[in-house]
Amino acid sequence: MLLSEYRPFSELIVKETEYNKPCHSVIDFHTHFGPVYRGQRYEKTYTAKNIISILKSYGVEKVIDLEIFPEEVEHVCRIWEGQEEFCTIFAPINFDYINEPNFETYVHKTIQRYKKLGIKGLKVWKNLGLEYKDKNGKLLRADDKRLQVIWQEAEENHFPVVVHLADPPAFFKPIDNNNERVEELIEHPEWCFYGKGLPSFEELLEQQDKLIGNNPNTTFVVAHCGSYAENLNFVSEQLNKHPNMYIDISARISELGRQPYTAKKFFTKHQDRILFGTDYYPTKDLLYPIYYRFLESMDEYFNYDYNIIPAKGRWKIYGIGLEPDILRKIYHDNAEYLLTRL
Ligand SMILES: [Zn+2]
Repeated sequence: MLLSEYRPFSELIVKETEYNKPCHSVIDFHTHFGPVYRGQRYEKTYTAKNIISILKSYGVEKVIDLEIFPEEVEHVCRIWEGQEEFCTIFAPINFDYINEPNFETYVHKTIQRYKKLGIKGLKVWKNLGLEYKDKNGKLLRADDKRLQVIWQEAEENHFPVVVHLADPPAFFKPIDNNNERVEELIEHPEWCFYGKGLPSFEELLEQQDKLIGNNPNTTFVVAHCGSYAENLNFVSEQLNKHPNMYIDISARISELGRQPYTAKKFFTKHQDRILFGTDYYPTKDLLYPIYYRFLESMDEYFNYDYNIIPAKGRWKIYGIGLEPDILRKIYHDNAEYLLTRL
């Protein structure tokens, strides 16, 4: 029998709680609605309106849509017209313009344009640090001084900046028998950054630390649990060091839920700086019930996704049973604060 054919069935009989609704209405700070407005595959199945009604049935009051590229901003804003209460858009800055002499003017004008369109924040994709190059062919660092103008403009306009830097540490290691994400990386070798002459995971975290530290008045939401859900001690130190740093938990309950004691302490300690997010993409199953179960229940040993072989690795997770006042902050109030403070 090959390992890939192994499908163990757990004989453990423990409490199973169903959570189709959360204990408080939710702001999902990390979603990707691209397929809806680009009409990819879902054009006949979903419209913005019926996606909204599905999400509302799961207790989602509002989403932040991060799936936008600079050239489609106007188009996307039109699609969401009339639904602004439900969907808030964060948009990116095109780093290719770094090579133009008037980069600062471009940044200024872009953010002013975004403001007029009702956009409320910026999104930085993970290709910063791993892909974007300047005209000398050098990879652009996240803490590059030339980008400083973006973070200053964001601060002046009260735009939080959602940054996705790096990826799980296992993606920076060889795809071998010691890699905990090996099955996933065999299926997606393009997600592996090892041996490609790219910065290491540690180097990207160092850039992230400097980016946040050099711009203490800009609010950064570091996606995917501050880039290092595998090491909450590190993320905790970063949050202590940088009062302008927030994190979202999107696509990381697989990591958080396999260290329930550490995670519960972490959520309790940093309850004012953690945002609910799922990385929801309309081409995927809705994972809201699993997120709610992880945050609210004390259930043990359950799946973090709906796959027979869990997508990230063959482990299960545990609920952390957070108190209602902490849940309210994480589900809703922390996000509301970032979106409304002026
Ligand atoms: Zn995402």
